[in-house]
Amino acid sequence: MINNSSAYKASRQFAQEMDDADQLSTFRNQFYFPQHNKRDAIYLCGNSLGLQPKAAREIIDQELNDWAEFGVEGHFQAKRPWFAYHTFFTESLAKLVGANVKEVVAMNTLTVNLHLLMLSFYRPTKQRYKIIMEAGAFPSDMYAMETQAIMHGFDPEKAVIEVGPRKGEHTIRIEDIEETIEKHKKNLALVVFGGVNYYTGQFFDIKKITELAHKAGALAGFDLAHATGNKVLHLHEWNVDFACWCSYKYLNSGPGAVGGIFVHEKHAKDSKTFKLAGWWGHDEKTRFKMKKGFKPMKTAESWQMSNAQVMNMAAHRASLDLFDKVGMDKLAEKSLHLTAYTEFLLKQLSNLKFEIITPSNPLERGCQLSLLFKAKGKEVFDKLQSKGVIADWREPNVIRIAPVPMYNSFVDVYTLYEIMKSV
Ligand SMILES: *Cc1c(COP(=O)(O)O)cnc(C)c1O
Repeated sequence: MINNSSAYKASRQFAQEMDDADQLSTFRNQFYFPQHNKRDAIYLCGNSLGLQPKAAREIIDQELNDWAEFGVEGHFQAKRPWFAYHTFFTESLAKLVGANVKEVVAMNTLTVNLHLLMLSFYRPTKQRYKIIMEAGAFPSDMYAMETQAIMHGFDPEKAVIEVGPRKGEHTIRIEDIEETIEKHKKNLALVVFGGVNYYTGQFFDIKKITELAHKAGALAGFDLAHATGNKVLHLHEWNVDFACWCSYKYLNSGPGAVGGIFVHEKHAKDSKTFKLAGWWGHDEKTRFKMKKGFKPMKTAESWQMSNAQVMNMAAHRASLDLFDKVGMDKLAEKSLHLTAYTEFLLKQLSNLKFEIITPSNPLERGCQLSLLFKAKGKEVFDKLQSKGVIADWREPNVIRIAPVPMYNSFVDVYTLYEIMKSV
């Protein structure tokens, strides 16, 4: 594949040649595409809801059949016994986020998990109570931080400190994050950032932010909704304290599908780490003795409260099979080219007035480009939609485009370019 952007050409033939050279091009056939005029839509919205893996139905059917056939015995007799269902995701998730198998578990949904992890890792004192987060975070994250501060008796205006872009800039500089941490370090309890910001597509330096938080005597947690399945991550090595993500965006596991958490081994195995407990977090060996006195497992599984939501997790397995097959390294490599080529094409457009606010440095972005329109952004978006392009509109004036390496092609983004050129 040509990875030198000076050799890129804005032609359908060139895009086709890139697809022909792409080792991952056949993975596209593993997914259902929404149809537009009896043809596959140009689906560039995997940052919002990933496409359905064709294998999802078979796995969901398996659970329905096992339920019909075995009833309660399905907990042990099912092809994937339900009592252990959560364990069937662990290895794949560990690979995806760069963790060991004791550090991850699939459970609940993202915001619920964020709150549960905050209950463990935001234990503010009169001295240390501040949370530093990115300005312009996803609203759920803002509400979570705000209400966590209130729950502990703090004024969120004082407890939640935001770092934003400088005037005239769109992304956040690491030196400004560093300065803010330095400024508040005496009162700092926690630094919570997105992995990839949902609006700008900026990928933060998770390793560096974690180091800075630790140096200030605070902990570091990350919301990886837009990073998991998008960027190569090394959460264990980076010494991240905790993280959570959803699986319906780049992980293609279906609307509202199960989320996942990472808790660094050093906290996961420490039975003194506080958590709200339920029976599924209890030591496996004595779980069914049904006795008083919570004994947590020594892994991230101890954050589980309930038994696994089998129906809500089945499609996740279908999707993770594909990630296991491809591997994040290969996906990231294709992603680099696909996003760079998309950027190259968008920069050829002289008929539309927009600015790409996503960093141009591939190390600081994943597979999303956010186009900030000066005017008429919504009209462009509507036009794209009418031509069978599924992208994403964010108020007040941003179109987000996500060329997803798992199933998007170079011809997809070339077609986008042609349509935009005709607007
Ligand atoms: C998508 C997203 C969410 C959504 O939260 P749910 O609890 O899954 O509804 C939260 N935070 C971020 C950063 C997101 O991108």
